[in-house]
Amino acid sequence: MDMPRSTALAILTHLDTTYGKVNADDLEDNMKRMHAQWSPTQPIEDLYNQLKDAQKFAADHDTISDKMAVRAAIKNLTNSGVFTDAIKDWRKMSDDAQTMDALQTHFTEADKERRRILTTKEVGYANKASMKPVNETANKVIMHGSGTVMYYCWTHGLGTNSNHTSKDCTKKAPGHKTEANGDDMLGGCCIIRRKAGERAVFRRPQRQERENEENQQPPANRT
Ligand SMILES: [Zn+2]
Repeated sequence: MDMPRSTALAILTHLDTTYGKVNADDLEDNMKRMHAQWSPTQPIEDLYNQLKDAQKFAADHDTISDKMAVRAAIKNLTNSGVFTDAIKDWRKMSDDAQTMDALQTHFTEADKERRRILTTKEVGYANKASMKPVNETANKVIMHGSGTVMYYCWTHGLGTNSNHTSKDCTKKAPGHKTEANGDDMLGGCCIIRRKAGERAVFRRPQRQERENEENQQPPANRT
């Protein structure tokens, strides 16, 4: 059958009668599938496949050339926002070198490198997270003078262990309040813990001694 070329309607009729199932809407949908935005969470092969599928679908009706497919791919990868450098390198290649095969080789490599860097970063974040308390700022108490940073726990009071906060405490007393911090103790423990190994010298004064102190009389005068 000869292709009538006069009007768009004629073309539609031609498609309907010649190919039965494929009409202009189908071809339009096919173009949409070809241009569907690829997501960096998808395998890069998904993008190649959607381009090839679109080419195959349109092959006998409204041919999509390799050059068109390559342009669609570059537009898609640009919009993904994760291939800035790889696209720059791609643009340095000559027009003739920018084939579908070359595109796949180029961006498969770039995607491998992108995923490798992502994995390294994630491991880095995980390591940092395990070393530092999550609620660092909320629980930090900076000691005047020394600048020593201490951390508050509702059950155990103030100490230097950054992993021991109200939130992280492993031996919580009944009624423990995980939101308590140095700024707002929420009625919690008011002890400042000594450093490990520091000998206790302080002794809580007896009632009589305290009264004497309040009267500014040294204990020696009592006898
Ligand atoms: Zn505690």
